[in-house]
This record gives sequence, C-alpha cells and structure tokens, in this order.
Amino acid sequence: MKKIINNDIVRLVVSRLKKRYGNEMVTSLRHSNPWELLVATMLSAQSQDSQVNKITPKMFKRYRTVTDFALLKPVELQRYIKTLGLYRNKSKNIINAARSIKKNFNGKVPNSMEGMLMLPGVGRKTANVVLANAFGIHDGIAIDTHCITVSNRLFLLDTKDPEKIEAELMKYVKRSDWGNITHLFIALGRDVCTARRKFCGECVLRDICPSSTERS
Ligand code: SF4
Repeated sequence: MKKIINNDIVRLVVSRLKKRYGNEMVTSLRHSNPWELLVATMLSAQSQDSQVNKITPKMFKRYRTVTDFALLKPVELQRYIKTLGLYRNKSKNIINAARSIKKNFNGKVPNSMEGMLMLPGVGRKTANVVLANAFGIHDGIAIDTHCITVSNRLFLLDTKDPEKIEAELMKYVKRSDWGNITHLFIALGRDVCTARRKFCGECVLRDICPSSTERS
C-alpha cells in the first residue's frame, strides 16, 4: 500500500496524542546534566529505560565527571552495566566518547548534531535525544523501535530504516514538535500499538489509522 502522510494527518495525530498522553513530554531516562543523559541514552540501546534507571544512580555516584569516565578501563565500567545487553560494546563506546569530549570539546558535551556525531558510538537517535532533552535543540527526530512500528502502521511508510523515517517525519511534523513526536509515539507504542499486538479498540487514532482493526 502507498504511504499516507501529509500535513493535515500529522497535525491531527499530534494533537490527539498530546490530548491523550500530555504535552511537552521529556525523556524518562534519569540524569542531572548533559553527560549523564548521553551515557544513559547510550546505555538504553536495546534496553528499557527502566532497566537503565536502575543502574545509573549508583554509577553516577561513583563516577561523576567526563574525566572520571575517560580514565576508566572497560572492565571497571562493565561491573555497573552488565545487566544490560551489549554491555561490553557500550562500556567501550562510553569511555571513548568521554575521551573524545575531553580531547575535542574541552570536556563539554557538544551541543550540535555535527559534534555529537563525532563521538564514538553516537548515532542520530542518541544525538537527537541528548540535543532535545539536554539543550532544547531540535536538529532532527529521534527514532526508536516504537517510532518505527507506529510510523509504519499510521503512515504506511513501509521502511524500518530509522533515517528514512526521520527524514519523512521531518517534512511534515512542525519543528517545535520534533522532540514531542518521539515521546508521543513511544507512549502510544507502549500503551496500545505494541510491536507484538495492537489494541486498536483502545486507541485514540482508531478512526484515522489505515492499519486500524476498529474503525468506530
Ligand atoms: S489504530 Fe491500531 S494500528 Fe493504528 S495506531 Fe492505533 S493501535 Fe496502532
């Protein structure tokens, strides 16, 4: 089926989801500064935010600054994060990102897409989350697995490529909603439009969604 996406449908979707899940949503990852958010976001790849939130308070109490992380060996960090998937890779990437921030950005997390993408292990999704939630900068739209599922069902985009979905949404979603749309799609994806099953009868978009099983 052909994709269905235009300004009107996107505006309606955003407005209904805001009414259902709230306005101005923010990341559920616990953090108190841009560096902590960057680390938490890197840890959240293929892990749930709630799992990440269980381990980060203890870790951030022990290692407080970018320099603390830059001086670590992967095995030291792994002690804190080994309950998460891909923890060996994540530990290396976080330490290398800390070293790169010290070397190239004067110890401060960069506040631009270009700078973020220079960091080891940081892709557009992580960059978008950190830029939006730590700096209020919207340079793109963070696309996670919920966003992929929901975008395909709602707009029939027929792609799992996050960058293609991001580019498509950026054409139609108002820039001021670029941060919100991620959280709204995550809320919808967790609530009724899950990857394994859709509960269209309880969805606020059931009358306008082409994949709905309940049109009334
Ligand atoms: S109507 Fe069904 S398929 Fe469409 S967004 Fe809602 S839950 Fe998902």
